[in-house]
Amino acid sequence: MNILYGVLILLGLGVLLAVGIVLFSKIFYVKEDPRIDDVAKMLPGINCGACGKAGCRDLAEGLVKGEIKKVSQCKAGKKDKNYDPIIEYLSNHPDEDGTTHIPTI
Ligand code: SF4
Repeated sequence: MNILYGVLILLGLGVLLAVGIVLFSKIFYVKEDPRIDDVAKMLPGINCGACGKAGCRDLAEGLVKGEIKKVSQCKAGKKDKNYDPIIEYLSNHPDEDGTTHIPTI
């Protein structure tokens, strides 16, 4: 009988914590710009850090926000494979307010 109490207490605790995790994930949800992931996928993805950023996703975020003006900051990238597709993508996908941050090579 004591084992049953232990199992019920652990089950209740598990359900309580699961509900807490779901609530916190809803409350503290951070909406991210989906263009960051799209641009990150167009970069080489080797996260070498040669661009001076923490990784490809960090550079993608800078490009999308217009903080980085040259796609060639990615030293491992190639013009046809990486730079041109990113420039074209950002030309066709402006910010929510309509401004475009189009980097150069
Ligand atoms: S240089 Fe290019 S491949 Fe290397 S981390 Fe920066 S964006 Fe990624």
